[in-house]
Amino acid sequence: MRIAMIGSGYVGLVSGACFADFGHDVICVDKAADKIAALKEGRIPIFEPGLDELVASNVEAGRLSFSTELAEPVAWADVVFIGVGTPSRRGDGHADLSYVFAAAREIARSMQGFTVVVTKSTVPVGTGDEVERIILQERPNADFAVVSNPEFLREGAAIDDFKRPDRIVVGLEDERARDVMSEVYRPLYLNSAPLLFTQRRTSELIKYAANAFLAMKITFINEIADLCESVGANVQEVSRGIGLDNRIGSKFLHAGPGYGGSCFPKDTLALVKTAQDSGTPVRLIEATVAINDTRKRAMARKVVAACGGDVRGKTIAILGLTFKPNTDDMRDAPSLAIIQALQDLGARVKAYDPEGMAHAKHLLDPSVVYATGPYDCAEGADALVIVTEWNQFRALDLRRLGEVMAKPILVDLRNIYARDDVERLGFSYTGIGTSTRR
Ligand code: NAD
Repeated sequence: MRIAMIGSGYVGLVSGACFADFGHDVICVDKAADKIAALKEGRIPIFEPGLDELVASNVEAGRLSFSTELAEPVAWADVVFIGVGTPSRRGDGHADLSYVFAAAREIARSMQGFTVVVTKSTVPVGTGDEVERIILQERPNADFAVVSNPEFLREGAAIDDFKRPDRIVVGLEDERARDVMSEVYRPLYLNSAPLLFTQRRTSELIKYAANAFLAMKITFINEIADLCESVGANVQEVSRGIGLDNRIGSKFLHAGPGYGGSCFPKDTLALVKTAQDSGTPVRLIEATVAINDTRKRAMARKVVAACGGDVRGKTIAILGLTFKPNTDDMRDAPSLAIIQALQDLGARVKAYDPEGMAHAKHLLDPSVVYATGPYDCAEGADALVIVTEWNQFRALDLRRLGEVMAKPILVDLRNIYARDDVERLGFSYTGIGTSTRR
């Protein structure tokens, strides 16, 4: 199959490289000239484990190339994927579909022969209908089918998720697209990943329902964590105790500072807006969004409490800025709200993240001081706050930390340390949902 991937970000580049690895011929297109220039020089513009080797080997094999121009790849392709961003629209929280619609308009002008146009971007119900309408408006005689094929990969484990998905969802109205999509994903369903064909609108909704459910599950355990703190229970044991029930499952039951990232915040909000517009509000998700929004700043209050009620003039060391480990993605990371809240309360902030600092510098107040490593970050700090559970933060030399810090206070927003181990070394320890009562 000849595949053009429009948009070469976290999803487009990973999907394009994986499709090439399946044996398809792929051209990844992006408007961002710097991204394409980097890719052409063999540099990967994002941090995603394993992506550099995957891209290099498929470029080497002649199956993967890059372009800033859409017209030629689209004319050449059998299948055109739209993998552009769908951020929250400023002001009202609906998904901003302007990039998707602009891409659709451009695709329409260049398509040749029967072309399957696939939205891989996360788009609200009915977007496929609108993409179809736009293409027909531009090219009334075009021969094409519009398909929905949402992506479920997770940053940090994206290649493995793409190659070993739990399921592949394909929504279509035109049966001619079924064979094409089956061919695109043949290597995967031969390995038994279920290929689920649905109507297009159903497929679009599956993506939002999946993300909303996961966001709700995280928010559920976060509220239970708060309850654990007030009644003297331990949320990690509660998680284990309920997660062993197969009907519940153990994943996404880790209490923390609230969900963030490039998907859950915007997708839950967009679902809320879609549901309100259609007169069928989804109250569980409305509550999820509201609870999560207030949680991040509430984490700053935890730090204040750990510091004895005041952080004014104190130095707070933050370990981890990205919304989760193994990515450089800073979009909607909880660290942003937590640091802002600490600064609002008069704290000085030092921070360290293995991959996120370059992006963070554009998003955080310039007064934040960036460290070269965890111990450098902790130097002279009145408290150390673990915000993101990078592996390298899981086995810190606590004695050494205690020696360089001004005060031995650890606030562990990911529960990666055991209270007893930390307290034994003279630290005061604050976790999430782990009561001090015995
Ligand atoms: P991203 O911002 O990393 O990448 C989008 C890219 O599209 C950018 O590089 C941008 O320059 C490019 N672009 C925009 N308009 C273009 C056009 N007309 N022609 C060519 N290129 C264009 O975004 P992302 O994280 O890859 O997300 C893309 C979509 O996939 C979103 O809808 C997102 O919700 C969804 N998604 C993301 C993830 C994830 O983990 N990041 C997972 C599943 C689904």
